[in-house]
Amino acid sequence: MKSITRLKPYAEIMQQLEDCNRVFIVGCGTCATVVQTGGVEQVEAMKEQLQDSGMLVTGWTVIPTACDEMTSASTAEHESAIQSANGILVMACALGVQRLNLYTGKRVLPALDTLFMGLEESPGYFVEACDQCGECILGYTAGICPVTACHKGLLNGPCGGTNKGKCEVDQEKDCAFTLIYQKLRDLGRPDLMKHYHPPKNAQACPRPKVKILEAKETEQWI
Ligand code: SF4
Ligand code: SF4
Repeated sequence: MKSITRLKPYAEIMQQLEDCNRVFIVGCGTCATVVQTGGVEQVEAMKEQLQDSGMLVTGWTVIPTACDEMTSASTAEHESAIQSANGILVMACALGVQRLNLYTGKRVLPALDTLFMGLEESPGYFVEACDQCGECILGYTAGICPVTACHKGLLNGPCGGTNKGKCEVDQEKDCAFTLIYQKLRDLGRPDLMKHYHPPKNAQACPRPKVKILEAKETEQWI
């Protein structure tokens, strides 16, 4: 699973930087490198472009995984260059941007738009697989997620626009419920199509979502 990002238009990046003239650039060595939006090559290209626009780039780095807590140590290594900047341009997904926001004490600005969490189905081809809805129904849908596979995110069967197994929004695509029905039928459980899924309960999953690991009082070794 990778966090899929896309470079913002340069004009939008410059607009965000309108009151900054000294910039430190941060890339990410994990998802943004794989997706080619925030690896070394893209960060160096951004540095050149900003310099050509008259910006002073105080430094840059590509953090191994910008969203994790080790980012604190990585930013500490560049403390001086970060402190002499008045803007941190982050070429990582929104999780990386928010992680940097915890540690730098500076204005943190995203250079990328975060699109979705994607499975790499074949080299370089990423597909949105899960919207982290908090109430997973894959057990009833043959492992195909209707929240992401259906354009309307329906849960209880196709809309009235489905036509000969195709989606009304994109006729090149199979309707999500055609795929779900075919797979359930192959698994010998077409009856699961009739299982009713109530509307998502927003109160059962307040935002922001959090997960707290329970502390283990005793460790058992077998
Ligand atoms: S139903 Fe779909 S969006 Fe919800 S948790 Fe399962 S895979 Fe993710
Ligand atoms: S045709 Fe199928 S996939 Fe397309 S929006 Fe309707 S239910 Fe969803």
